[in-house]
Amino acid sequence: MMKEVYLDYNGSSPLDPRVEEVMARALVDGVGNAASTHSFGRRQRAAVDDARESVALLVGGLPSRVIFTSGATEANNLAIQGALQQEGPKEPIVAVSAVEHASVRRTADWLDRHGLAKRRTLPVTPGGYVDVDYLARVIGPGVVLVSVMAANSETGVLNPIAEVAEFAHAAGALFHCDATQFVGRLPFDLHNVGADLVSVSSHKIAGPGGVGALVGTRSGLSRLRPLLHGGGQERGLRSGSLNVAGIVGFGAAARIAAEERVSEGIRVGKLRDRLVEGLKSRIPAVYDVGDTGRRLPNTANIRFKDVDAEALVANMDPVAVSTGSACSSGSVEPSEVLLAMSVPRDAAFESVRFSLGRFTTPQDVDLGIEKAEAAVGHVRAMAGSDT
Ligand code: PMP
Repeated sequence: MMKEVYLDYNGSSPLDPRVEEVMARALVDGVGNAASTHSFGRRQRAAVDDARESVALLVGGLPSRVIFTSGATEANNLAIQGALQQEGPKEPIVAVSAVEHASVRRTADWLDRHGLAKRRTLPVTPGGYVDVDYLARVIGPGVVLVSVMAANSETGVLNPIAEVAEFAHAAGALFHCDATQFVGRLPFDLHNVGADLVSVSSHKIAGPGGVGALVGTRSGLSRLRPLLHGGGQERGLRSGSLNVAGIVGFGAAARIAAEERVSEGIRVGKLRDRLVEGLKSRIPAVYDVGDTGRRLPNTANIRFKDVDAEALVANMDPVAVSTGSACSSGSVEPSEVLLAMSVPRDAAFESVRFSLGRFTTPQDVDLGIEKAEAAVGHVRAMAGSDT
């Protein structure tokens, strides 16, 4: 049987064994509710506070300003919906980039549809990053929140977030940054960026799934209202008993990421380059998608001309890669991110994301190239025999 190769770290990262170890202990030994005042509860609380420090360290925030959530989807919803529940302008506007994760774009759409805020879209360049020249025209009076991700999950392309923050603040708006794909791979500092609110997720940094956080500044958090009401946990912004083992795992993953992301980025970057060079040298008509001069070290989005990406992914099994296509009403639609970058529909249907990470080896990369070469040959031959 052929070895399985996992090249879909942006989808979800495998759990780090070091994280698994601390989680196993937390699951077995962790008794009590972190909100209880007895000694059991206090120990749970201490474990959560330890994780809070690690997550704060990962984003350059303060531990007391980490709000644990069920993941980045919830953190994004809390940031965007939460910012709109306070008294503000009569017709508030939320400005989000065209390449945000669905949990940002769809939340802004929902607010717009229900008359709670107007959605304004920040376009991106063909390279895939927010067009700064355009910002001055679209961020102005009435904008209460601007949401731009640090790095795109499909292309890895980095946004000029510090500049976006300046535009947002000049208009009196909050700046929310979804840094889910960024924080485990490159150094990040909330204050240097000028972000008021930052979303992160544990399973993208080799931690467990189902846990994440919204980290803010004092003024950022003070402008939010909760989505979940109840016991008033997490500064009253996210009620519900805490998922202690998940949070402890997230904390361990955050600490490891903060310590290792720079060296890991260099190692993984070399593997990513080896992968792309291998694909280009072995397969005809292979092109980069997105600006390769400003992207995460672990990601490559590649177009294989005349190859349906879904067919390629299926034929590459057990090498795991992904497309940004989505199934909607029974038909497959190309990635909205790529379309927003003005990639033509047919090219968007031919693009595949390779994302590497902590446990990727040179052998994995070589197998990935080999499998891609065979799969592209097969899909092109099948397409050729159809015509
Ligand atoms: N934002 C980005 C940029 C993401 O890549 C993802 C996960 N694909 C999310 C948000 C959602 O994260 P979670 O799975 O923790 O809800």
